[in-house]
Amino acid sequence: MTELSARPAFSLSSTAQSGAANYPGLDVWRDLPVSQQPSWQDKDVFDASVGELSVLPPLVFAGEVDVLRERLAAAAEGKAFLLQGGDCAETFEAATADKISARVKTILQMAVVLTYGAAMPVIKMGRMAGQFAKPRSSNDETRDGVTLPAYRGDIVNGYEFTPESRGHDAARLLKAYHTSASTLNLIRAFTQGGFADLRSVHQWNKGFTENPAHARYESLARDIDRAIKFMASCGADFEALKRVEFFASHEALLLDYERALTRIDSRTGFPYDTSAHFLWIGERTRELDHAHVDFLSRVRNPIGVKLGPSTTGDDALRLIDKLDPEREPGRLTFITRMGAGNIRKKLPAIVEKVTASGAKVLWVTDPMHGNTVTSPNGYKTRNFDDVIDEVRGFFEVHQALGTVPGGLHVEMTGDDVAECLGGADPVDQESFLDKYESVCDPRLNHMQSLEMAFLVAGALAKH
Ligand code: PEP
Ligand code: MN
Repeated sequence: MTELSARPAFSLSSTAQSGAANYPGLDVWRDLPVSQQPSWQDKDVFDASVGELSVLPPLVFAGEVDVLRERLAAAAEGKAFLLQGGDCAETFEAATADKISARVKTILQMAVVLTYGAAMPVIKMGRMAGQFAKPRSSNDETRDGVTLPAYRGDIVNGYEFTPESRGHDAARLLKAYHTSASTLNLIRAFTQGGFADLRSVHQWNKGFTENPAHARYESLARDIDRAIKFMASCGADFEALKRVEFFASHEALLLDYERALTRIDSRTGFPYDTSAHFLWIGERTRELDHAHVDFLSRVRNPIGVKLGPSTTGDDALRLIDKLDPEREPGRLTFITRMGAGNIRKKLPAIVEKVTASGAKVLWVTDPMHGNTVTSPNGYKTRNFDDVIDEVRGFFEVHQALGTVPGGLHVEMTGDDVAECLGGADPVDQESFLDKYESVCDPRLNHMQSLEMAFLVAGALAKH
């Protein structure tokens, strides 16, 4: 957990026109300690941006958010499995049709394999359409003796290492909203307009299994092929399988942005953060009495919390009391990111404590963030084997305790990048020189993502 950064020197008087203007408690966070917030350069730009955000249309609708809560409740019971994936940090520049569709395609491809392995529905969720804000362990970055503010995600500043680009520009809040809207629009078109037809998704997976490096996944691929042929022979309604539910999620880091997009739902009378269906609280901002936990405790969306290796069972119980006092099915997801070397040692005590309390959360593994290393040639990377080992450890722990391993949270892309090491068709560090594109953490590339799905499907089939 990190230092508190200074609070911005001004507050949000201009959101008075927000639909959620006077809802009791929604602004308590403003008086609490808050970390990882920008220091915006220009108060007028900030006021204008937040004022506009607070009257723009919602990006998601309360009814969809409620459906997701039901889906996650099923996952917590072992009747569905969550697949949540996407960039560490989306960028405005990469919000192109090709890159968005490649990512959605890869998630759908992974989901088909996992659905077969788990023999249950897979809830598909992107770290997409809003994943623009990054927590940083240091406020500054120094290169060749020059020190500038750290890159905090496109919603705050630019990645380019110049003073102009690294300044905190509140006009970016609006650009983040509009980029989220166009991304989500394309995702909705893809997943509702026929693109997601199960038979085509299965067909795309053939590109993976035809690669000789993936020969060991052939038999599972053949089983899936047979299952689809069996469905067709039985007269399955493939028309209905052309549409899939797809949910948007991001880390709820910039509280001014999340607050401005919070609306009171006219149907239920409750506040919903309409910037995404699912919001999570990061490992660096999960302090119990601080602003992030307080704000997210007051919106109706399903909420995730990242739990790193320093988490105690008591921390988990206190988070449950604060974020899910009613013990509502599907409300709370714990996304554990312990590291391959820690998962088998640290996770059991936390899960046992939560189980003994009678609370039910959805347990999801993030096998990325506890396994970040620096490659010998200086790139931030992760070893595919460590990532897989953490997933295996997660399944082992839940199997031993009789609890439910309910989902997978990954940083991945649909493109042929080189950012994580290894895999059956291995990525080596030399390929980082021209194929490393991430502006933040290293992602599994298209093939590594599919390979992970095949490996996890194998583990699920045994579970
Ligand atoms: C992330 O998900 O990109 C992230 C920063 O994770 P964590 O909060 O687990 O470190
Ligand atoms: Mn990350």
